[in-house]
Amino acid sequence: MTAGHFRSTLQRSQLEFALDYLVMKLEIVQTGDPVLRKQGRWLTRADITSPRIQELIELMREAMREAPGVGLAAPQIGESIQLAVIEDRADYLADLSAEQLAKTQRSPVPFHVIVNPKLTVVGSSSVEFYEGCLSVEGFMAAVDRALDVRVECLNEKGEEVTINAHGWYARILQHEIDHLNGTLYIDRMKTRTFTTAENMFRFLSERK
Ligand code: ZN
Repeated sequence: MTAGHFRSTLQRSQLEFALDYLVMKLEIVQTGDPVLRKQGRWLTRADITSPRIQELIELMREAMREAPGVGLAAPQIGESIQLAVIEDRADYLADLSAEQLAKTQRSPVPFHVIVNPKLTVVGSSSVEFYEGCLSVEGFMAAVDRALDVRVECLNEKGEEVTINAHGWYARILQHEIDHLNGTLYIDRMKTRTFTTAENMFRFLSERK
């Protein structure tokens, strides 16, 4: 990617920031960077509504779309805070068959922000699917995740919200909230399923 870390711009003036915005793309850090292993700092309502965090949210939205990804957690761009952005766009689902959509229980999720999330598993059903991570670029593995979760958090305005999620959306939430607590999917994966993304699709027919 280009132009370095977001954290390098934090002390700069608004003008410099605006100039940076034109040329800067957030660097998504890769596994091995210690920031991915820290517990993110909780944010206050004043933090959330500050220009700095509002700008960070915008940059994260762009970085997520550009990747493209369905979720991006602040530690992945070098910010150790309890904030993630999520969006599963209809056009990402366009290439999937009706059967795949039904199997993965995936449907579009509008863009939204979660801050200081508390995740509760609902029920005892779980399901195993392959997933990948923008910070473990080029790889995938099967991960068992709860099918239903409830998340209590703050939104981008600092308002309390409760999210009840099912299927793929529940998986995204579990993956992103893990990031905020220093956990990666490779900690939870079935290690013998670990594969390059290329081989994932190459040997798809042998993978059940
Ligand atoms: Zn990830």
